[in-house]
Amino acid sequence: MNEKSILVVEDNPTNLKLACDVLEWSGYKVLQAGDAEQALKLIDQTPPDLILMDIGLPGMDGLALTRKLKAADGTKDIRIIALTAYAMKGDEQKVLDAGCDGYISKPIDTRVLAAHVAVCLGEAEEKP
Ligand code: MN
Repeated sequence: MNEKSILVVEDNPTNLKLACDVLEWSGYKVLQAGDAEQALKLIDQTPPDLILMDIGLPGMDGLALTRKLKAADGTKDIRIIALTAYAMKGDEQKVLDAGCDGYISKPIDTRVLAAHVAVCLGEAEEKP
């Protein structure tokens, strides 16, 4: 039984549902937030093991939220995987510079998502 919890921060309802479904099927406890403010409230109540972070959010964006979490002692150890639509060169670096531990480009490939999350949580070996 997998007790790891994952917070999905995504403002697009279709992507939010898809990501949450995949992670629930994989046995994780899944929390969801549609913006940074909601995410911060949830993180404050129950810090998750990993955050799947959409970069394009209304208000505070995913990069700013990541910087904020990685700068605070209570939240800096939470793994963060960015969910980015900008699959362009240079953006990978921007995401890593903000403190994200990895990234997945949209549209979401469900197998890639499940595998990447497992690796990031140290539950699976990275593919050679
Ligand atoms: Mn978005």
